[in-house]
Amino acid sequence: MSNTCALCSAELTSIDTLLGENKLSDGGSLCNKCLDKVSSIHQELLYNLNTFSINDIKSLIQNGKVEPRADIITQPSEERDVFIAENAGPDSMSRELYKRRLKEIRYELEQVTANLSMFTKGEIKELPRILNENERIIAATDAQLSKTLDAGILLVTPDRMISVSKGMFSDVIVKKYPNETINEVSIVNNPLSPVIKLHTADKIEEFECFCDKADAERFYSFIDKIYNKEKPRKQAARSKEISSEVIFEQLEKLGKLRENGILTDEEFADQKKKLLDQLL
Ligand SMILES: [Zn+2]
Repeated sequence: MSNTCALCSAELTSIDTLLGENKLSDGGSLCNKCLDKVSSIHQELLYNLNTFSINDIKSLIQNGKVEPRADIITQPSEERDVFIAENAGPDSMSRELYKRRLKEIRYELEQVTANLSMFTKGEIKELPRILNENERIIAATDAQLSKTLDAGILLVTPDRMISVSKGMFSDVIVKKYPNETINEVSIVNNPLSPVIKLHTADKIEEFECFCDKADAERFYSFIDKIYNKEKPRKQAARSKEISSEVIFEQLEKLGKLRENGILTDEEFADQKKKLLDQLL
């Protein structure tokens, strides 16, 4: 496979090859810049790029339109409309909006330097329909919902975390975790693939990060700052529990000292009061 853009010959970056469906019918690929350029002339390219060859693309640029390939001409126009309708999703998002959002989302993923594997392409294409129109991605990592086979992405936006996973031929699975439902996050630092856990009121969701350990850890340190800010208070509560345990132990010892006649009743009462005062 060629490592350069079939149109401008620029070297393809991982973002070009991983985040976009940039493949052409003849095996070549476009960089995201060229894809943006040609799809702004002809929107169909954003959905059906892999039915066009580089020569189709070149003639498109020259003429402002592309001569479709024979097999596309023979395809009933109805069928094409169905395909487009499916792509637009049940909420009938306009193609214009879908296209703009996909572009924005790809840009945001670039900005948060998420290292997403090639298996998450399908998930990324779903994001325009999953995220709200003004919802910005502030962190992302490649993370697979534990005990499933499908690759997936874990995203953070200002209001929630979202997990998106999609099998090659199955429907997309979207799980939404509004910020107020996340009590805490934690990580299990397995040597190969860390597991990120989201603790909600009723369950703990586990995500295994097979793709890039360092990226997963970087992502975790980001969500740790957001979702574990309540921790100091919880730890303080825990240390109080521990100290009350210590006090009860001492009370027990005190009781034995009195039983053995080492402490008088008055001394015992005095010490007991001191210990109990510490509990308050
Ligand atoms: Zn290019």
